[in-house]
Amino acid sequence: MSDPVVLTANASKLARKGHPWFYADDLMAGDVPPIALVRVNDETGRDLGLGFHSAPSKLRLRLCGGWPGTGVPDPEQFFAERLSASVARRSGLVGSRGACRVVHAEADGLPGLVIDRYGEGHVLQSTSWVVEQHLDSIVPWLAAQGSSFVIARNDVAARRFEKLPEETRLLHGQRVETVTVEEEGLLFTVRLWTGHKTGLYLDQRPARRRVGQLASGRSVLDLFAYQGGFSLAALKGGARSVLAVDQSRGALDQADADAEANGLSGLETLAENAFGVTRSLRSEGRQFDLVVLDPPAFCKNRRELAGGLRGYRDLNRTAVRLLAEGGYLLTCSCSHHLTLPMFEDVLRQAAADLPFRLVLRERLMAGPDHPVWVSLPESEYLKVLLLQRT
Ligand code: SAH
Repeated sequence: MSDPVVLTANASKLARKGHPWFYADDLMAGDVPPIALVRVNDETGRDLGLGFHSAPSKLRLRLCGGWPGTGVPDPEQFFAERLSASVARRSGLVGSRGACRVVHAEADGLPGLVIDRYGEGHVLQSTSWVVEQHLDSIVPWLAAQGSSFVIARNDVAARRFEKLPEETRLLHGQRVETVTVEEEGLLFTVRLWTGHKTGLYLDQRPARRRVGQLASGRSVLDLFAYQGGFSLAALKGGARSVLAVDQSRGALDQADADAEANGLSGLETLAENAFGVTRSLRSEGRQFDLVVLDPPAFCKNRRELAGGLRGYRDLNRTAVRLLAEGGYLLTCSCSHHLTLPMFEDVLRQAAADLPFRLVLRERLMAGPDHPVWVSLPESEYLKVLLLQRT
């Protein structure tokens, strides 16, 4: 058995406070395999649980919680235990035809591993060498649970930092191109190999539901609509009309097809730049009873923060000016580096000089299948605010 990884005194202090990530400088020298599930000790030899050790990565060690005894478990047993606990925590969240994140990386004690269930199959994303090395424990476990396909959607930029290849691969079962999943009585097509993220934006489930509840009789503008998740929820909720805007014609075509499959009419799609569209709508004096603003992350790292903040401010400034009297704005940011207080400040700036009052009605977040680990504030990446013109 290999030695435990021992943290320096400073790093040990951080680990005891709950910090889960460590760099090469934080580790004392020892006989540790380059890529391995390891036992971690503090500088005095006290146990800090298990960790994923990865010599090729900048992030050398990611803690993954306690484990009985002092040794390292058999990886198959470790992954089986963590996976079953993760799945059990989500029991009853969605039906068998539904879609659900079943593993949310560090928040589920499995650093660098995301697994989404789409109906009977699974799509995973790994950004860790240790996960990569143990796919032969993870994939058979999913297959044994009855998974009909397991796809690796490892075409994510984060793999570059780990020096892992970007690729998509069928890991188990028959290759299928799409599946249909159900959410709140709506059917959505998941493009398993080409859709964004692992196929759908599962994290916005609570916000889509809220939009459905608010939509009755309203005119809706869905900006950055992708496959129309919000648009369809609004139409099902009784929206009078929905205009969905996205730069991707392919995504909007899917929205149109899904609207038809659900027997919903009243969707208009516009494949254009949402920045330009909001400005034109504003200059035409158009107004909407409900505006959804769900752009991609504008600040992907700290360096992009200032520019990103400007982007959010400009868009939100224009969007609030499109609100009809009593209208709602559901505005979102999925930038890890933009905190909730910063986002609320963006809205304050966007509301400056408004000829009406804008009130904050609700703060929403990703659904319970995307838990936020309090020790890792970055895991609270999705901020959603519901505001109303009064
Ligand atoms: N609201 C969606 C997710 C939006 S993701 C849902 O709940 O499913 C962000 C979307 O913004 C992507 O579909 C992308 O194609 C689109 N996008 C990115 N930049 C854009 C731009 N400048 N104008 C219009 N759409 C853009």
